[in-house]
Amino acid sequence: MSEGAPHPFSPAGRIEALRAMATKPLDVLVIGGGITGSGVARDAALRGWKVALVDKEDFGFGTSSRSSKIVHGGVRYLEYGHFLLVRESARERRVVQSIAPHLVHRLDFLYPVFAPDSLLKVRAGLAVFDWLASAEGAEKHEMLEPDQVREHVPGLRDPLRGAVLYPEYITDDARLTLENALSAAEHGALVANHARAEELFRDSSGRIHGARVRDTLDGSVYEVQARAVVNAGGPWAQEILQESRLPVPKALRPSKGIHILLSAERLPLSGATFLKTPSGRRGLAMRRLDYVYVGTTDEEYTGPLDTPRATREEVLDVLAMTQDSFPNAGLELTDVLASWAGIRPLIAEEGKSTRDTSREDEVWHGPPGLVTVAGGKLTTYRRMAGRVVEALRNELGTPPDDVDRTAETPLPGAPAGDVAAFVRERGERLAAPGVSGRTVERLLWLYGRQLDDLLALAGGDPDWLEPLGPDVPAVRGEVKLAVEREMALTLADFMDRRSALLLFSPDFGLAGVETAADVMAELLGWDDARRTHELAAYRQLAAEHAVPGA
Ligand SMILES: Cc1cc2nc3c(=O)[nH]c(=O)nc-3n(C[C@H](O)[C@H](O)[C@H](O)COP(=O)(O)OP(=O)(O)OC[C@H]3O[C@@H](n4cnc5c(N)ncnc54)[C@H](O)[C@@H]3O)c2cc1C
Repeated sequence: MSEGAPHPFSPAGRIEALRAMATKPLDVLVIGGGITGSGVARDAALRGWKVALVDKEDFGFGTSSRSSKIVHGGVRYLEYGHFLLVRESARERRVVQSIAPHLVHRLDFLYPVFAPDSLLKVRAGLAVFDWLASAEGAEKHEMLEPDQVREHVPGLRDPLRGAVLYPEYITDDARLTLENALSAAEHGALVANHARAEELFRDSSGRIHGARVRDTLDGSVYEVQARAVVNAGGPWAQEILQESRLPVPKALRPSKGIHILLSAERLPLSGATFLKTPSGRRGLAMRRLDYVYVGTTDEEYTGPLDTPRATREEVLDVLAMTQDSFPNAGLELTDVLASWAGIRPLIAEEGKSTRDTSREDEVWHGPPGLVTVAGGKLTTYRRMAGRVVEALRNELGTPPDDVDRTAETPLPGAPAGDVAAFVRERGERLAAPGVSGRTVERLLWLYGRQLDDLLALAGGDPDWLEPLGPDVPAVRGEVKLAVEREMALTLADFMDRRSALLLFSPDFGLAGVETAADVMAELLGWDDARRTHELAAYRQLAAEHAVPGA
């Protein structure tokens, strides 16, 4: 970042980035600010290429804010023989945790075995997993007797034979995505959200050399020239090609997955546990602060890509699986606090159901100047980015700095030095002026070095540490920082993807939304009509994440 320049993720920094994109030809234009595109932009920028990254809505607007949010080895994929994917994921989760220790938290995973299934088989599977993961010491799996299982997961159904316990990681997917986009910008990439790539430019030889980008907030249009374009549109990847009348090398087969949110008081798990009902229905329940969420489903999806929502039937299906797994918990539909749906951008495989379709990614070349990346997982985004960079070599030659620095470059929020000491000390400093325990816990879970900005803000005006609203575990200063340093430009940018209040706070954080709108209106110069529009749009979004028909 050059001195005196606006912060790249401030409103002024965004406009400057859009103008700069259209001023000088770039090496790479990345379309799509999900985890894939943000990871590609970061890797390419770290290698010294001139990069731009645009998202038509916001970083993590698509699947990258609607996943199960686990950075995991994918034990389940062993059953399908996807050994390479498991090996890559299992090793990669450690790297992702090391570059984002503030955001990628260790979580104990339990794989219970019920009669008549064989404990031996699962144990053998986990031994293979440990080997593929090169697990050492505390990373290795442990066997639990039924009594020990019940200590970890009270109320789990019978007949329980035992379980395997092993560590994985949980994260906030939208913030992980945001931090990758920000890291790209810190290493020179020009980055803008609410910027839709429309028509791709093609010269007379058929070569792709950029795209028209529309600022969807003010309607301005920017002509962005680039020696190569990366289509990282996730579920939209096919649509992006079709809109420019380009051939689609392989069809995507979008698959929808939903989750339901419960209070941890109703389902007191301490980590995550795989579920398997007597009828064979499988799922996963995960603890995050005061909540437990349960997923997922895996069904072919043909609805609108921008607004996938859980249907009542899907919610009932996941709830029934949870009820069957915890028969004495007395869970009812009224216990479901929220739901969300995401679309897996799977690559169609002849004769296979979406559940059996591989989660591996593919990189497609062509026409010249264009690289499309599809499929994949949150966990392996960095490796996918590396494969895209390999493909870009064909278009651009060797990058100026031909070294992969993505594994050793911490994400912007990563504290330097002892992370546990950082967390302890910032926790004490937040609690001292009276921030509630719940809010401190959430702040420490979600943010890293950003907490220093928050504390500095509060040093000037303690009101920034005031709660956003009654029972909302967030503070006013988060809104200001989201606008000035994280490119939040709509209420949903803040409430959904920066603060996770939409999915992980009482009643979607609605008790704090007026205050958040006031802060944003002041900083972004919204008039009354815009403020009213933003509030209405957020209330609608919240309603769509409640249980349909409840
Ligand atoms: C239910 C579910 C659970 C999952 N759980 C896990 C998990 O726990 N762990 C894991 O590792 N993986 C998980 N995954 C997989 C993982 O979430 C996805 O592979 C990943 O998020 C896909 O990211 P992406 O960047 O490719 O797509 P997206 O996140 O969808 O990003 C695509 C972006 O492109 C933008 N875009 C589209 N068109 C344009 C355009 N014309 N111009 C500009 N921008 C455009 C969109 O706005 C969007 O932000 C899960 C997936 C689902 C559905």
